[in-house]
This record gives sequence, C-alpha cells and structure tokens, in this order.
Amino acid sequence: MKNEDYSADDIRSWIDDDSSVPSADLFETARQVRKQHCGDVVYLRGLIEISNQCSCNCLYCGLRHSNENLSRYIMSREEITDAAKLVAEYGIKTVVMQSGESPLISAELIEDSICAIKELGDIAVTLSLGERNFADYDLWLKAGADRYLLKHETANKILYRKLHPGASLDERLDHLHYLKSAGYQTGTGNIIGVPGQTTDDIVNDILLCEALEADMISISPFMPSGNTPFSKVQPADADLTLRVIAAARIYLRDVHMPATTALATLLPDGREAGLKAGANVIMPSFTPLQYKTEYLIYDNKICLNEEARRCLTSLDLTLGSLGYHVSGERGDSPKLAIR
Ligand code: SAH
Repeated sequence: MKNEDYSADDIRSWIDDDSSVPSADLFETARQVRKQHCGDVVYLRGLIEISNQCSCNCLYCGLRHSNENLSRYIMSREEITDAAKLVAEYGIKTVVMQSGESPLISAELIEDSICAIKELGDIAVTLSLGERNFADYDLWLKAGADRYLLKHETANKILYRKLHPGASLDERLDHLHYLKSAGYQTGTGNIIGVPGQTTDDIVNDILLCEALEADMISISPFMPSGNTPFSKVQPADADLTLRVIAAARIYLRDVHMPATTALATLLPDGREAGLKAGANVIMPSFTPLQYKTEYLIYDNKICLNEEARRCLTSLDLTLGSLGYHVSGERGDSPKLAIR
C-alpha cells in the first residue's frame, strides 16, 4: 500500500547529512513502526552460501568473475541438505540458499535441494541466486520455494550500468516483477555508499521498494573487497546506513529487514545497532567452514572461522541482552495476510 503519511521529501530529511532529526529519535520511531506492523520479535534465517561461482563482474563484489583469487565451489545436494538439517535442528524455519549468478549452478541441483529441504519439515525456502531463466523460477516454485531475494542494488539506471557491466536496471526489474507475479514473496534492496551514489538515489531506492511491493528489504553498507576495482574505496558510513534502515522501516512499514552481516562487519555491534534502527531479521551463516572462507563478497567478513554453533551462541546472548524474543515461526511476509 502506498504510504500516504510521508513523502520523498520526508525520507530525504531523515537521511540528509544535515538532517535536523537526531538519530536516536529516528530509531525510536522506527522501532514503534516495527512493533505495530511486524511485532516485537526477531526472525532468524539460516543462510547457506551454496556456490561462489559467478559470471557477473559487479565492480563492488568479491565474487566477480574476474577475481581469480577465489577457489570456486558448488555444494552438492547432500552438503546442502546436511547444512539445512543443522538449520532445522536449531529450530530455524527458513533456509536461504545464496550464490553468485552462474549457469554452472544447475536448475536441477536447486530443485533437488528444495525438495530435500521441504522433507525436513515446515521450512520456508528463500532463493538468492541472481537472475535466472524465468523457467527456472517456475521450476523452483513448483518444487516448493517460497521466496526470492534479488536486490535492485541501486535505483539509478546510469549508476546501475556502471556498477554492473553488461547488465541493466530494467532487466533486473523485469525479473523482480516476474518473481512477484509468479507467486514468490520477493525481496530487494540496495547497497549504501557505493561510489557515485547520491542522497536522492537512496530516497529513490526506498520509493522503488514501495513500487515493487517488496516483502523483504536488505540494506547493506558497502564494504571494500580486495581484488575488485573498489578495493581502496572507504566503507559506507555506519550512521547513514542505520538511518536508511530506520527510514525504510518508517516509510515501508510491513517489510522484513535484516541487520546484515555486512553491517556486523562494519560495526562491532552492527546486528544490535541494526535491530535498534528497525531491522527485524538476522541471517546466521550455516555454510560449511571450508566454503565460508571462499564466499568472500567483501573483506573481513565476521564468523569466517567459526562454526554456526559458536556464532549462534554469541547471537543468542546479544538478542537476550536486548530483550528480543526470537520467533519460532516461519516469518512469512506480513503482506501475505493482507493480500
Ligand atoms: N548473486 C546474487 C546474490 C549474491 S551476493 C544476486 O545477484 O542477487 C548478495 C548481495 O551482497 C548482493 O545483492 C549485494 O547487494 C551484496 N554485496 C556484494 N558485494 C558487496 C560489498 N562489497 N559490500 C556490501 N554488499 C555487497
């Protein structure tokens, strides 16, 4: 539903460098909106980074095709299922399969893995595999997939072209529209702090999320990655990132929003800060250790050398100390109830 209470100017006034709204007030409002539209619980999503194969060359991303310093892997159906079993054992009711975008990752591997995960119980499956054939999306939906995460990255067409050689925003949006119409709960989102991005671009990112009626929004800070053209670029400003999360919460209301791993890498208490700014989802990694160290989207990613168990223990402590209750539900889109 279109937001009739606020305008693009309001969003701009919340995230402008010289905003008159103190961050603490903005975050407080965001928490109230979250409580009203999503409840006061945190949803966990078990992330399995199934492959770092990628044929794209996004300027910011460590998985880019031209990066020859990664050893490339594709997890087998058995490895994916084993990781998903661990997710289920933790009582987490969503598995996210994420990868680079590559034809080497077969549609059948994904289909088989979805079927195997669905046999583990009432577990929602989110896919985040980049742009694929529409027939693949149909196949996976039939196999039981529930959600698809495909970030628009930036709503600025010209910037999009610069960041993604050979790709276009229009193409990305075609995929997002198709996913939505096919029946996926869809997620999108942006990166804060890429070179060339303006405040107006970020305002337009939030408006685009509204126009797409996105169910999930991921707002992550840019983090430099070695072996990319942006390796020497400064990381995003943490306060700006948090203000954009809060602005997105206040404006978009009933969306699921993660406190991302990138935010937790930028700030030692990034997950906590993200939740305090209006996020309501955390995506702990269940990628097997030997692959985790090769899924290097950006540098210094947290928990790289830790088993899921250890990461989750520290996460439990953080959430407990903040007084958040972890939901035992699947956490489908709040928009589903309205649709
Ligand atoms: N290939 C998939 C998703 C894989 S990466 C796709 O195209 O959708 C998941 C997300 O990581 C991307 O959507 C992007 O927003 C984010 N990302 C990539 N490089 C990053 C960087 N250097 N800093 C912050 N986020 C980054």
